[in-house]
Amino acid sequence: MDIGRYLDNIDKKFTRKDKTKMKQYDYLIVGSGLYGAVFVQQATAKGKKVLVIDKRPNIAGNVYTEDIEKIHVHKYGAHIFHTNNKKVWNYITKFAEFNRFTNSPVANYKGELYSLPFNMYTFNKMWGVITPQEAADKIKQQKKEAGITEPKNLEEQAISLVGTDIYEKLIKGYTEKQWGRPCTELPSFIIKRLPVRLTFDNNYFNALYQGIPEGGYTKMVANMLNDSELSGSIEVRLGVDYLASADAKEELDSQAEKVVYTGAIDAYFDYKLGNLEYRSVRFETETLDTPNFQGNAAVNYTDAETPWTRIIEHKWFEFGKDENGDDIPKTVISREYSSEWKPGDEPYYPVNDEKNGALYAQYKELADAERKVIFGGRLGEYKYYDMDAVVAAALDCAANNI
Ligand code: UDP
Repeated sequence: MDIGRYLDNIDKKFTRKDKTKMKQYDYLIVGSGLYGAVFVQQATAKGKKVLVIDKRPNIAGNVYTEDIEKIHVHKYGAHIFHTNNKKVWNYITKFAEFNRFTNSPVANYKGELYSLPFNMYTFNKMWGVITPQEAADKIKQQKKEAGITEPKNLEEQAISLVGTDIYEKLIKGYTEKQWGRPCTELPSFIIKRLPVRLTFDNNYFNALYQGIPEGGYTKMVANMLNDSELSGSIEVRLGVDYLASADAKEELDSQAEKVVYTGAIDAYFDYKLGNLEYRSVRFETETLDTPNFQGNAAVNYTDAETPWTRIIEHKWFEFGKDENGDDIPKTVISREYSSEWKPGDEPYYPVNDEKNGALYAQYKELADAERKVIFGGRLGEYKYYDMDAVVAAALDCAANNI
């Protein structure tokens, strides 16, 4: 297609329309997830009128939590808020009390259990090493045997960080299930998310601040949407699909001066340049008549054969849920199955490799030309964002635009 001509047409379209009508809202926010909620909060605090729409029947996007047996179930996957950004922490904690949850998943490799992230407990169990020096020597030796000097992909990056044994047992199977691609074809930045420590520290994140909002994320997002005295000026419409038809979109667009779009960027343009690739996740959630199924919030199944990547036991995200079941005699677990996204599925993870990066750059060019629309969040920016980075980006965007 001729991108130049397409961009000219967009310009004309908006110039014409914007002159004709007074708008009812300052902002139309498409998507009530974290990015949208931060932007709404900032906009309403400045007295702006906002319309929020979401195609789901509930607010909060993928951080949505639903109560089952008095347990906050992370319906769209486990979300643990963690950050080193004090500004973000100070901001988010205005909308919820956070508990002191520290993520320390366990890896299950064919019945052998290992501590995560990779630390002295992991190295001791894998090799019997006792001291940090012994662990460092073992990693160095395995890296040397593999002949890696400059890691070019995830496999090489992983081996240079932790050696071949840990790569084979704790990384390869899990990563290839999660991404549906060989580790040799995945970008190395993915594995750099995981700390490697020569200390006895099972905290998965290198983050100064960490926790889960008490009362669940849905309540936190609701507080953000209703934050301002002026929140009377915000309207939330659920079950509204912005991209259902060109007419519906045009009608919604015509009501607001600006649009903040947090859905998938390629969907916005009707996939006209081709599909970006995403990974989707299917959750099989079960309530069990036992107070304690696995003794931890997350257990990763790191072999290639087990079809799920991990099992989440939601009650352990909260503080003070005793394992004897005096409080809650049941438990709710979710098995996570990863799959390639296809139309109709929920997109979760952008596949940030070179091919998709190049296609995204083209979509970004189209997006930049949509003067009236801000694209934000994991899907709008096609970026494997953590929650704190989403909040920081939305705060920046609000500061620059409102
Ligand atoms: N990872 C791994 N083994 C594990 C956990 C994580 O190899 O037991 C690697 C894997 O490459 C994965 C990345 O770390 O894609 C990030 O995993 P995480 O579970 O933290 O991703 P999330 O779904 O939480 O964003």
